[in-house]
Amino acid sequence: MTDEQKARHKERMKAHYAANPEQYRKNRKDWKSKNRDRKNELNREYRKRNKSTLNARERELRKLKPKQELTPEQKAVRKAYSQKHYKKKSATIRARTTAYYRANREKCYERQLLWAKNNPDKVREIRKRAQSTDRHRQKAAIKAREWRAKNIEKVRARDAEYRKSEKYKARIARNREKRNEQCRIKYHTDPNRRAYLKSLARRSRGYFQVIERWKRVGRLCYICGNHLDENEICIDHVIPRAKGGGNEVSNLMPVHRKCNSNKRDIVDYPVKRKDLLVI
Ligand SMILES: [Zn+2]
Repeated sequence: MTDEQKARHKERMKAHYAANPEQYRKNRKDWKSKNRDRKNELNREYRKRNKSTLNARERELRKLKPKQELTPEQKAVRKAYSQKHYKKKSATIRARTTAYYRANREKCYERQLLWAKNNPDKVREIRKRAQSTDRHRQKAAIKAREWRAKNIEKVRARDAEYRKSEKYKARIARNREKRNEQCRIKYHTDPNRRAYLKSLARRSRGYFQVIERWKRVGRLCYICGNHLDENEICIDHVIPRAKGGGNEVSNLMPVHRKCNSNKRDIVDYPVKRKDLLVI
């Protein structure tokens, strides 16, 4: 058929339809109800063929139509519908999204950056949430170790620089103060107060009295019964402090450090030279 013939045929058909509009509409309806599958197929083919035109038209229509506010019920219905749709097609949708992302990486990245710029609070929140997971921490630690190994010279230079800084000195001073404070607390609250007693004994009359006693008992350790050098002297509470023993000289004996730690707080510890206690 030539174009001219085609046009003429079209004209004739138009005239025919115009003459019998009712009949034409009825015929069409009948055919559609009888050939539903075929009709759907034709529709699909038509949409496929004219996709861009149809989409453009839809976009234009959407622009003309004022955006309608949805009621909560309508929103819920839509959400349920899209969730259902997503569930049914999740694999396809995900594949499509991934493919799109791969094809338009730059564009996606730009869009992400823009979003991040416009939503700094959300970004902070997301980052915080991600960083608080163990997985992230482990990963970060591994990364840091690797970086350190690769840039060891840089790290050393940086550390040396840091050690010269006021910040570092302040940190050291702060730590020293903290440690001293801890020692002070321990010194006054530790039930054994071993260091305290020792230093006190060493500085006090008590220490010299223990030395006198050491000389009196023949420079022996009453726990093991062996010879005790002066520089080995450790002061033992015969009745332990924890068991009610005091700091008076009658309760203090010169012993080996090792014997002292073996005896600990045991009251009936089998000592070798109990007889020395009365000297
Ligand atoms: Zn001993």
